[in-house]
Amino acid sequence: MFYIPTRIFLAGNALQQAREHIARLGTNALIICGRHSATRSGVMNELLPLLEELQQSYEVFAEIPENPDLETVIRGKQLMLESGFDFVIGIGGGSPLDASKAIMLATANDLKEDQLYDTGLMRKRLPLMAIPTTHGTGSEVTPYSVLTDPTRKQKAGFGTDLAFPDLAILDPRYTLSLTPRVTLNTSIDALSHLLEGIYSTRRNPHLYPMIAEGMRLIVKNLKTALNEPEHLPTRANLMKASMFGGIAIAHSSTTLQHSIGYPFTTEFGIPHGLANGIFMRQMMDFYYPAVEEELANVFAAVGITRDQFYDWLSSFPIDVRVPISDAMIDEKIPEIMAARNTVISPVKPTPDELRALLKSVQQEKI
Ligand code: NAP
Ligand code: FE
Repeated sequence: MFYIPTRIFLAGNALQQAREHIARLGTNALIICGRHSATRSGVMNELLPLLEELQQSYEVFAEIPENPDLETVIRGKQLMLESGFDFVIGIGGGSPLDASKAIMLATANDLKEDQLYDTGLMRKRLPLMAIPTTHGTGSEVTPYSVLTDPTRKQKAGFGTDLAFPDLAILDPRYTLSLTPRVTLNTSIDALSHLLEGIYSTRRNPHLYPMIAEGMRLIVKNLKTALNEPEHLPTRANLMKASMFGGIAIAHSSTTLQHSIGYPFTTEFGIPHGLANGIFMRQMMDFYYPAVEEELANVFAAVGITRDQFYDWLSSFPIDVRVPISDAMIDEKIPEIMAARNTVISPVKPTPDELRALLKSVQQEKI
C-alpha cells in the first residue's frame, strides 16, 4: 500500500512550476516560518512577488522556534481566526513545517492547547503548502507534526492524513545558505528516516529501492555539501534523499531510533538530527538480529558493507557525550518505552536494554 496525497515539485524553479496549483489553494495566506530562514534561504524573495501576481493576500508569522511548542501553535491559530486566512504556507526546516501543520489543524478543528495531539478531534483541514529549507525532516511529505511541551519537557509527534501538505515545493537553491552544522544534522535525520523505513515493523519492501537510493545519495554527497556548501547538484541530491526519507516514514513511521533522542533535545538542547546521530550505530547494532537480511540487501544496493558504513559515520562529529545523570536516565525510561514509535521497533527493548543504550552516550563522570 502506498499513500502520498502531496503534489511534489522538485526542481530549481519549483515555485514557478507549481503556480497554477498555488493559485488554487486560496485567496488569503498565513505564511508560517522561523525568524530568519525564510528570508536567508531566498524563499521570501521569490514567493511574495508570486503571491502578489496571483492576487493572493498574505501575512507573515515569523515566530516559530526550533522544536515548536504548543503555546506558539495556539498563537498561530488565534492569528488565523482573527484575520480569516483560508490557507497556510509553511517555510523552513521541520520546525516551521510541523508548526504550520499543527496551526492549520488547530484552526480547522478549533483545538485547544491540551487537544493538539488528539487526532480523533481532527476532522477538517485547510489547504497547506510546505516549502522546506533544510534537507532533513521530509516533513513536506509526511503526515506528522512533532511538538514540544516545554512545561513537561516532553517532545512527541502526532500523525494524521489530514496533515499531509497539498503541495511540497522542493527547490535545492533554498538550502545553499545552511550552515555546516545544520547541513550535517539534517542529513543525519534524513538517513535515520531511510533506515527506519527498513527497521520499522510497518516496513514496506516496495519502498526499499527508493530507500537504498536515498542512502546512497547521502553517503555520496554529505562530505561534499560540508566542504562546498554552495554546490547545487550536491544539495539537490541531499534534498531528494530527504524527501525519500519522508516518504519512507510516511509509510513505516519512525522507531526507537527517534524516540530515544527526544529527551536529549528537550533536556540538553541537542538538535533533532544530531540526537538521532549519537545513537545511530548503537541502534543499528541493537536492531541487527531482527533486520539482518534487510540491512544486508540495502547495503549491497548502496554498494558498501555495514563496516564501511560505520567508518563513514564515524568520520563526522556526531559522537557526542551528554551529561545525563543516572537518575535522569531512570526517569526517562518509562517515557521512551511508552512512545508510540518505540512500539513499532523491530526489537522492543527491555528497561535494562534501554538503560544500556542511554548510558552509551553518557559523559564520563569527572
Ligand atoms: P529546524 O529546527 O527547522 O531549523 C534548524 C535551524 O536551521 C534554525 O536555526 C533555522 O533558522 C535554520 N535554517 C533552516 N533553514 C535554513 C536555511 N536555508 N539557511 C539558513 N538557516 C536555516 O531544523 P530541522 O532539523 O529541519 O527540523 C527539526 C524539527 O523537525 C524537529 O522538531 C523534529 O522533531 C522535526 N521533525 C519532523 C518530522 C516530520 O515528519 N514531521 C520528521 C523529523 C523531524 P530559523 O530559526 O530562522 O528557521
Ligand atoms: Fe526526524
